[in-house]
Amino acid sequence: MTTSTSNAVVALSTPSLEGREREYLNQAIDSTWVSSDGPFVTRFEEDVARCIGARHAVAMVNGTAALHMALVVGGVTRDDFVLMPPLTFIASANAVKYCGADPVFVDVEEESWNLDPGKVERFCREECRVEDGRVIERASGRRVAAIMMVDVLGHPANADPLMEIARRYGLWLVEDACEALGSRYGGRAAGRLGSVGAFSFNGNKIVTAGGAGMVVTDNEAVARRARHLSRQARQAGPEYIHDAIGYNYRLTNVCAAVGVAQMELLDQFLKRKLVIARRYREAFAEMPGVVCMPEAPWAESNQWLFSILLPEDRRDGPTHLVEYLSRAGIEARRLWRPLHMLSSYASDRCDGVPIAEALYRHAVSLPSSVHLSEPDQHRVIDAVRTFLGSGEL
Ligand SMILES: *Cc1c(COP(=O)(O)O)cnc(C)c1O
Repeated sequence: MTTSTSNAVVALSTPSLEGREREYLNQAIDSTWVSSDGPFVTRFEEDVARCIGARHAVAMVNGTAALHMALVVGGVTRDDFVLMPPLTFIASANAVKYCGADPVFVDVEEESWNLDPGKVERFCREECRVEDGRVIERASGRRVAAIMMVDVLGHPANADPLMEIARRYGLWLVEDACEALGSRYGGRAAGRLGSVGAFSFNGNKIVTAGGAGMVVTDNEAVARRARHLSRQARQAGPEYIHDAIGYNYRLTNVCAAVGVAQMELLDQFLKRKLVIARRYREAFAEMPGVVCMPEAPWAESNQWLFSILLPEDRRDGPTHLVEYLSRAGIEARRLWRPLHMLSSYASDRCDGVPIAEALYRHAVSLPSSVHLSEPDQHRVIDAVRTFLGSGEL
């Protein structure tokens, strides 16, 4: 395991390129296959599909593009609504907007910090009517086309009841599994819990390709459509004939080479994430009022980014803790500001999201890189303990 010296800054989540990345990159360069298409792209797709047990994986340039395609292939289009949590990285909602659709923010549950199936069901039942098999939001007359669940911080959403609601109402269910590679729900791999899933291989995720995304599904027609649209909708054959307005969302062979090398490390990285999470949980169990991110009984999280809730009485605690840790050479971050609180989403429909707002008020994410050394982790834990004991407000 790589160890960083104890006076260097302890990073929040940085990549560990300790496998065959350089070797595969050299192969890609020697082969001159550096652009989109190439053997590493296919191999990367096969590796991800095999890893999660999906029939199909389609490589994309990043996770945001994968989410966009996952919505488009489900027929999400102009003026549609997509039910989704506000407590997520902004890319989840931006992908909805790229379709010309709008999010409706529905609250999360404390048990998982993910979309609350009961509140999604309530919205469909009380705020919508079903007309010719379509779900129509009563106040606006607009169609609800899809639900997007997000496996926040690596912890899978409560997928079974959400799938049941999606089935009952005929809604497309997208799983934003960008943070959740290697996580499981019951016996099933994250990414396979809805109609279609999306992964990210950005530098801060559990494994990286530099940048990449993946659409995963068991449905062959969906996979074919995602591949087609993400490759400029070009028909097979020698000529440039395009049958739709597509996108250039293809992954390059150079990035895929890094992705393939990283996939070889995934099992090892998952084990290290568990060790890091266990150490944090043990330490914080002894600090009164500190609540660790949840582990629902049905979830096996990859523990991607370890986060805690500070005691209720610490007003502005998260901002102060992040500043305090920064002065101690430790990088920490508040959880995302809920999207309905951002100017670009302030006018979107919000179903009342008190849990998401409360989590945001108290949550801080702590260093969680797979190369985080034990001494550095103890530095983080000691600093949090000192902060809490200081009564600093
Ligand atoms: C990282 C992330 C994305 C976007 O992935 P990129 O590869 O950065 O485009 C989307 N949703 C969530 C929840 C993410 O964490």
